Amino acid sequence: MSEESSSPERANARNPWLFDTHELSRRPGSSLPLRRELPVETALGVPDVVEVPSGSTVTVDLLAESVVEGVLVSGTASARTEGQCSRCLDPVSGDVEVNVTELFAYPESTTDETTEEDEVSRIVDDWIDLEPMVRDAVVLALPLAPLCSEDCAGLCSGCGVKWADLEPGHGHETIDPRWAALVQRLEETPGGGTADGSNR
Ligand SMILES: [Zn+2]
Ligand SMILES: [Zn+2]
Repeated sequence: MSEESSSPERANARNPWLFDTHELSRRPGSSLPLRRELPVETALGVPDVVEVPSGSTVTVDLLAESVVEGVLVSGTASARTEGQCSRCLDPVSGDVEVNVTELFAYPESTTDETTEEDEVSRIVDDWIDLEPMVRDAVVLALPLAPLCSEDCAGLCSGCGVKWADLEPGHGHETIDPRWAALVQRLEETPGGGTADGSNR
């Protein structure tokens, strides 16, 4: 309705992933705790493996500290994860918590002038965007192969049913492929003698 609502400053103030550095004194040593629930709009992670789903939140418990070169942000980020067991494919939910530390350099600071664009994060128009730091740290902390339990036996390779759901002694009438090759070779060899000269 009002023109205020369309100003970038207002839009930034409503985005919880952004931190207004005006809230923190530039005097080195000043600090400010940042505890926020950050809404996840795009899922973090790998779909169908493990992810922090969209619509959930990442909780950050951070401290922003003024240093000569900029603002140092450090603390933890934590979230609920959803995925599937890499052995039995059952849904698995869990938690991820990760430490983060990042310097956001002031424009025209020595750090700003002596580093590449993508080497160090920057304070842009007095705002710090927490999203890349938190997103990267959380994604790296996700398990590569989540398990429903450490001793999950997975699926029977013969029928694809979970071993946990199968009768004890379950098996299939198949020949071990190593034996199958030998059987075939014996069948091909007249008299069933030694298949070839190799005897290591
Ligand atoms: Zn499992
Ligand atoms: Zn089976």
